[in-house]
Amino acid sequence: EARFNIPHITDVFPDAVEYPSTFCLKMRTPVSEEFAEGYPSDEKWHGYINNNDRVLLKVINYSSPTSAGAECIDPNCSWVEQWVHRAGPREKIYFKPEEVKAAIVTCGGLCPGLNDVIRHIVITLEIYGVKKIVGIPFGYRGFSEKDLAEMPLSRKVVQNIHLSGGSLLGVSRGGPKVSDIVDSIQERGINMLFVLGGNGTHAGANAIHDECRKRRMKVAVVGVPKTIDNDIMLMDKTFGFDTAVEEAQRAINSAYIEAHSAYRGIGIVKLMGRSSGFIAMQASLASGQIDICLIPEVPFNLHGPHGVLRHLKYLLETKGSAVVCAAEGAGQDFLEKTNAKDASGNAVLGDIGVYLQQEIKKYFKEMGETSDVKYIDPTYMIRACRANASDGILCTVLGQNAVHGAFAGYSGITVGICNTHYVYFPIPEVISKPRVVDPNSRMWHRCLTSTGQPDFL
Ligand code: ATP
Ligand code: MG
Repeated sequence: EARFNIPHITDVFPDAVEYPSTFCLKMRTPVSEEFAEGYPSDEKWHGYINNNDRVLLKVINYSSPTSAGAECIDPNCSWVEQWVHRAGPREKIYFKPEEVKAAIVTCGGLCPGLNDVIRHIVITLEIYGVKKIVGIPFGYRGFSEKDLAEMPLSRKVVQNIHLSGGSLLGVSRGGPKVSDIVDSIQERGINMLFVLGGNGTHAGANAIHDECRKRRMKVAVVGVPKTIDNDIMLMDKTFGFDTAVEEAQRAINSAYIEAHSAYRGIGIVKLMGRSSGFIAMQASLASGQIDICLIPEVPFNLHGPHGVLRHLKYLLETKGSAVVCAAEGAGQDFLEKTNAKDASGNAVLGDIGVYLQQEIKKYFKEMGETSDVKYIDPTYMIRACRANASDGILCTVLGQNAVHGAFAGYSGITVGICNTHYVYFPIPEVISKPRVVDPNSRMWHRCLTSTGQPDFL
């Protein structure tokens, strides 16, 4: 049995009517008598997913507990045998397409691929036969700000939006109370809500789902996790991450060239990753130009005989230049704590890049040695990029599956890729804590091997 059972409309509405999925095609294009009965099922979705299909969370057989990585598996925990629900079109659906009013909202920060997901949600809704599709502008705020009108969406509107980055609908942080959002959903007659956002947004989506259930509103709330940091539990990869790693190469290469072309040059690149260093780790691995990779999960000393500064001195003496890649959440202990919060209540972090630059300059100056330190922060350039090919595919599938999940009657779920298969997760499970780089993992060890850095302790 799946540990990750997901909420279904029939939990609250045991008598909810189910319709055959082909039904919606009757609604859609009765071009001729022959088509009025709908296409055979596999002409439409090319086959259905059975509700009881399960995806295994982890597939590996460690032949010995001493195998590298095997220590991550707790033999007493049945983790290895845990299953999640497979995503995709179902034969029975729980909404009549002509009675659906679907809304899409994008919250939090920008991430490559948002437009791709919006586009595919709209296109898939239209294939089901949905006519009323709207975008809520500027995140959850769009539910309450009186001067923000719903944006009508159709295939025609979204046809080319994936060709640029950003979000057609706009994004924001902060916003109205959950009860006000649900009031607004009720007023607008929305019965499918697609929420694109990070952990904060998903906490909101789950609260909206709970509130709708409490009020016995037949609304499907489906999330699509948007985190460029790739820090969502249980998922192989979230959209935008691949593009971010790719785009980060350009910043790293610039930093390398600057450092390499200067006398005793040092380049610093700060990459996204508040609590998880996946982008910094993968970008370092991909570029092959990083000498020191610093991530939030792995503590380090700056000063002292084993510190980062001492290693930089060694690199200048042996290689002539060095490049450092730091995740934004790395080394926060060194920075002065502020109590500042953004509109959503997230702590505002200190700038590790600026701090490193100052400390490195000071270190060499105090020793009477030359150093030429340059700092690049490509964050906003990366976030605003258009999705690359691999993320484009991921977004397409996630968008399609979000709509299939809503029609299948699921709510309070989010879509993802797990162990190479596309699945539905219950929201609370995946946002219980951020996914982080395991300092004992093979991948982090590979990164250390590739940069050649010691541990700075
Ligand atoms: P990012 O990865 O860009 O930070 P995020 O979804 O975490 O994305 P936030 O700004 O934290 O971005 O939150 C987005 C929206 O979710 C905001 O409008 C915020 O008000 C709302 N939100 C955050 N946390 C909660 C919560 N616990 N309950 C209800 N709503 C929340
Ligand atoms: Mg967040």
